[in-house]
Amino acid sequence: MNWSRRELLQSAGFLIAGSELASSADAQTQAGGAYEWIRNTRTLIAEAYNPPFYPSLDYEPSKAVKIARELNADSMRYPAASYYAYFPTKSGYPVHPELKADIMRQTVDQCRAAGLKAVAYVPLNHPFMHAASKDPRFAGWNKKFADGRPMTTEHYGYAEYFEGCLNSPVRDMIKSLVREVLVEYPFDVMYFDGPYQGMQNAKNYCHCTYCEAAYQKKFGKPVPNQDAKLSREDEVQYTSWMANDVAIAFLREIREMIRQTRDVPVLFNDTSLLSRREWRNRAIPVVDGFMFEAAETPEDKLFNMQLGQSTGKVTWTYVGTHTQYNREHLKDDRVRGWYSYPVESQELLLDGATALASGVGLVYWGLPRFFYQPEGPLAYDSGKYVKEIFDFQQKHDILLRSVRSRPQAGIIVGAQTVDWYAGKHFVGKAYENAAHGAYQVLKANGLESEPFLDWQMSPELLARYQMIYAPNAVCLSDRQCAMLSEYVGGGGRLVATHLTSVANEYGKVRKNFGLAELLGVELLEPEPVEIPDLYLKLPGGEEIPQDPQIVRFRAAGGEVIADTLDRGHRANLGPAIVKRTVGKGGVIYIGSSLEAVYEETRMKRLRTFLGSLVEPWLAPGRSYQIEYRSGVTPHFMASRDVVLLHLLADTGNKNKHLRSREEFLPVPDVKVRIRVPQGRSIRSASLLRSGQNMATTVRDGWLDVTVPRVFIHEAVRVDLA
Ligand SMILES: [Zn+2]
Repeated sequence: MNWSRRELLQSAGFLIAGSELASSADAQTQAGGAYEWIRNTRTLIAEAYNPPFYPSLDYEPSKAVKIARELNADSMRYPAASYYAYFPTKSGYPVHPELKADIMRQTVDQCRAAGLKAVAYVPLNHPFMHAASKDPRFAGWNKKFADGRPMTTEHYGYAEYFEGCLNSPVRDMIKSLVREVLVEYPFDVMYFDGPYQGMQNAKNYCHCTYCEAAYQKKFGKPVPNQDAKLSREDEVQYTSWMANDVAIAFLREIREMIRQTRDVPVLFNDTSLLSRREWRNRAIPVVDGFMFEAAETPEDKLFNMQLGQSTGKVTWTYVGTHTQYNREHLKDDRVRGWYSYPVESQELLLDGATALASGVGLVYWGLPRFFYQPEGPLAYDSGKYVKEIFDFQQKHDILLRSVRSRPQAGIIVGAQTVDWYAGKHFVGKAYENAAHGAYQVLKANGLESEPFLDWQMSPELLARYQMIYAPNAVCLSDRQCAMLSEYVGGGGRLVATHLTSVANEYGKVRKNFGLAELLGVELLEPEPVEIPDLYLKLPGGEEIPQDPQIVRFRAAGGEVIADTLDRGHRANLGPAIVKRTVGKGGVIYIGSSLEAVYEETRMKRLRTFLGSLVEPWLAPGRSYQIEYRSGVTPHFMASRDVVLLHLLADTGNKNKHLRSREEFLPVPDVKVRIRVPQGRSIRSASLLRSGQNMATTVRDGWLDVTVPRVFIHEAVRVDLA
């Protein structure tokens, strides 16, 4: 069923004028209501890796739909399968032994009757084969080590499961499962978890007979043995084969089958954004959108959502799961405590506000938290909070759908570096501190940016930004280096830090920076050095903290604007920062990961110093200014006629224990300035949460606003005339 946008909005209780419809930024989306609807959803997830679906099947459709309505969800996600199928499938997927009626059909029918959309959750080779099962097919479907042992995964602490291999007959069985769900049930959206090729053993090569045969056919040799020392060529070959020819090819095949059969939007789970040699982010072009499940902090979440925007695809995010139990004292951290209890507190509001500010689809995780409770969901804090988040999304639906962010800078996220760089001083699990630090320090200076994945770099993408920040983007191909040089030659600005371009896209270390000529520097050693108490010595003589890990390099055409001082040894270690003008463009090279240090310390002087480096380039085009307040993160969105400056106040009592429960304090009197776009004036200004109207006096093109109180979230709305 295809709803028009008008029908959709009418059904949601909105009456809108034709002009608003035309000005809406998503009017260019593909025809068909579901394709437009998916941008800003309010979905309740019925999760099936735990009660009420597994191990015992307690689920009742009417109870679930009632909870969805009470939370003001506009849709429900139903699990066609998890460890078992939850409908009477003929595909061969094992069916839950307690399944009696077709509860999937009942759920979809009842969603329809209640005016809710229905999203199908279908796992693509998510481990499901119980390792103790007598099912004889499993032996032929599972992933195998070189010695023939099957690979297994524990997942949620209930049991051990075989990992399936996508080259085995399990592939066709899953495809029939997908087809059955698509054809037999009128779901509005198909959502896929995967494709997986193992979970705990995802990085272990599969030696099943199907893989060995396919690899022999394609490359004329057996699957490489990881117990022996692997050549980089073998690693690259196997990894790209498994990613492109097996996993992504499977997702593409399924997407095409859906297009040919009953075309509905297809989204998938891309939570493992920056996991080493994980192909899922490479599958983004195949689908209509994707889900970033949970982030550990609101700042991480905002980063992920903004990265989602750079892909041009629809982004969904969980509201709630990072509020899971931290389980620190448990021996087996796969035993996660309780998924069937409403454990959340106010951090849920912040998680929701962050998702709302980013303009993405909201997905509450999930139904199990209320299913067994004696009262309805609104009797519990987390139920009230979910409803508050969903109500806000519904109340401001048209506005939130119409605005987009306006990034001035693009930040290169080094997926290639995560996959392939193997430098001796490289700490993979802290690598994201660089990209996150760049995002944070720009935000802290009131500058909007957008992270994008390195492999998606193109001249068109670069052209969207006034400046590119390459935070320790170690692995860049020759082509990508050329693109960046052309970008700067054409008037663009580039900040490159630390080991940026020291290796090619597969981690092969170069003799010099790939960007040496552009940056005006020459690499002395490919490995950085680590020394305590290093300082940046600025031209005026001021000394400010330098990253204790620095790159040794020589200036070769660039102007040195800071040296590194080694206080302990009374030594000057040479240039630290070099600046160069290239035609109308310019570059700054920082021979350390200062942005990572900012992320790790939030030192005020680093914030103002890094701001002072880029402000000459970005300040003239900025959309707003904000007085720095600890914990307050601005997020700017705009449409043709509305400017919206969100303020997110992460001022909770979370200590070093992630995922402990959290309460928040309001931040008083936050001062912001919003630039009135040229040729426009202000019709009205107000606060989106409190509803308070603000004065609209403009001075020198700027509107000054003092927001009296930000408790978790507020947004300044300016309507332009
Ligand atoms: Zn295999």
